[in-house]
Amino acid sequence: MSAATHPAPLHTTCCIVGGGPAGMVLGLLLARAGIDVTVLEKHADFFRDFRGDTIHPATLEILHELGLLDAFLQVPHEKIVSMGLVIGDRTYPLVDLSQVPTTAKFIALMPQWDFLDFLAAQARHYPNFHLYMEHEVTGLLHENGKAGSRTIGVTAQTPSGPIAVHAPLTVGCDGRHATTTAAAHFDIIEQGVPIDVLWFRVSRLPTDPENALGYFNFGTACVLIDRQTYWQIAFLIRKGSFADIQAAGLDALRQRLARLVPFLTAPGPDGQSRIDEITDFAQLKLLTVQINHLLRWHAPGLLCIGDAAHAMSPVGGIGINIAIQDAVAAANILAKPLSVATMSRPVPQGTLAAVQGHRAFAVRLTQFFQAQAHRILIRALNNPGPFHAPAILRFLSNSPTLRRFVGRAIGLGVQPEHVHTPKA
Ligand SMILES: Cc1cc2nc3c(=O)[nH]c(=O)nc-3n(C[C@H](O)[C@H](O)[C@H](O)COP(=O)(O)OP(=O)(O)OC[C@H]3O[C@@H](n4cnc5c(N)ncnc54)[C@H](O)[C@@H]3O)c2cc1C
Repeated sequence: MSAATHPAPLHTTCCIVGGGPAGMVLGLLLARAGIDVTVLEKHADFFRDFRGDTIHPATLEILHELGLLDAFLQVPHEKIVSMGLVIGDRTYPLVDLSQVPTTAKFIALMPQWDFLDFLAAQARHYPNFHLYMEHEVTGLLHENGKAGSRTIGVTAQTPSGPIAVHAPLTVGCDGRHATTTAAAHFDIIEQGVPIDVLWFRVSRLPTDPENALGYFNFGTACVLIDRQTYWQIAFLIRKGSFADIQAAGLDALRQRLARLVPFLTAPGPDGQSRIDEITDFAQLKLLTVQINHLLRWHAPGLLCIGDAAHAMSPVGGIGINIAIQDAVAAANILAKPLSVATMSRPVPQGTLAAVQGHRAFAVRLTQFFQAQAHRILIRALNNPGPFHAPAILRFLSNSPTLRRFVGRAIGLGVQPEHVHTPKA
C-alpha cells in the first residue's frame, strides 16, 4: 500500500493513532458520518503475521449493518461453525455457532492484513478519511505547550521528517505498549498472566482436519490456525520458559509437537514430516501475553480504546472483536459531538468518559473469563502426563444445548455493539 503525501502540519477533527482493528473501524465509522478523520499508522503496510485472524459473528453483524458483509465475504477466508479441543486421542466439541442470532453464523478466519486492507479500501471511499502509513506517533501535543494540559494533537515521525497533527480529539488505538497512554501518563493495572505463546508455521495439506482446534496433552498445548497453505501454530508455554525450551533443543520441541498433533508428521510438499520444517529457533516468535487495563481511558482531548486501553489475551480469539466493539461504541457516542468540535470547542471530557463507562464492564468481564481459562491452561502445561479433560469439558461436549450457549457467548461476546452513526 502506498502512503499518502501531505503538507505539514496537518489539521483534522479526529486524529486516530494506530491502524489496527480499533483504529480502522473507528476511522471508517467517523468518516462515514462525515467527520474529518486522520489515521496514523507506524508501519508501511498491515502485513504482520502475529496479528490474530478471527472475525466473530458480532463483528460480521457490524459489517452487515454497514452494508459491507457481502463484499467482505468475497475476500478469501475460512468459516468456523464449530470448535473443540483435542485431548489425547479424543476430540471434545465445545462450541457450536450455528444458532447465533446474527446474519453470519460463523467465525471468519481471515489473515488480519487482508481484513485491515479491506477496511482501508472501504474507508477510502470517503474523501474526509485520510490514512498515513509510516507515520509513527512519537508524542502528544498539549495546549500552550504545557505537559498535562489538554491534548491538541500529536507529533509523528514520517519518511519525510517529523510533523505535527492538530486535532480537537486524539484517539489512541495504538495497541499494547501504546505511545499515547505512556505520553498521557495513564495508570495501567497489570493482571499477571502465566502463559506466553510461540508463534510459527508449518505447511498445511488438503487432507488435514479443516478447522482450527486446540490440542492439549503431556504438558503441551497449542492452537492451529488454518491459513489455507499453512498452519499458523500458537504453541503455549509457561511465561518465562522460552530459555528452557531453547536449552532443551529443537528436537525436544519437535517431539512434543509430533506427540501432541500426530497428523503433522504426515509428509509435506517436500516429502518430509512437516514438523521437520522447524529447523531453527529463529522461526519461532515469542509473543508475550498480557492482560491489563487503564484506570482511566481518557484525559482532556484524548481517549484510548482497544488494546491501548485494555490489552487482551489471545484466549478465545476475541481481542480483535472487543477492539472493534470499542470502536463502534466510541463512534456512536462521539460522532455528534465531533461534528461540531473545533480546537476552541473540543469534545467535553464527560463524553469521553461515557465511552469508558459504556465499555469497561464488558471488557473487564471478558478479561475475567480469559484469566479463568489461563488457570486451566497452566494446569495442562504443568502436567507432563496424559491430560484428562476436566469434568466441565466432558459435560459441555455432551450437551448440544450447552455447546450452542457457549457458541452464542463466544460469537456475540459480553456486550455486542450496533452501528448507530449516520451515513453522511
Ligand atoms: C499472540 C497473540 C495472538 C492473538 N490472537 C488473536 C486472535 O486470533 N483473535 C483475536 O481476536 N485476537 C487475538 N489477539 C488479541 C488481538 O491481537 C488484540 O486484542 C487486537 O489486535 C487489538 O486491536 P487494536 O486495534 O486495539 O490494537 P492492535 O491490533 O495492536 O493495533 C495497533 C496498531 O497501532 C499501530 N501503532 C502502534 N504504535 C504506534 C505509533 N506510535 N504510531 C502509529 N501507529 C502505531 C500498530 O502498528 C498497530 O497497527 C492475540 C493477541 C496475542 C498477544
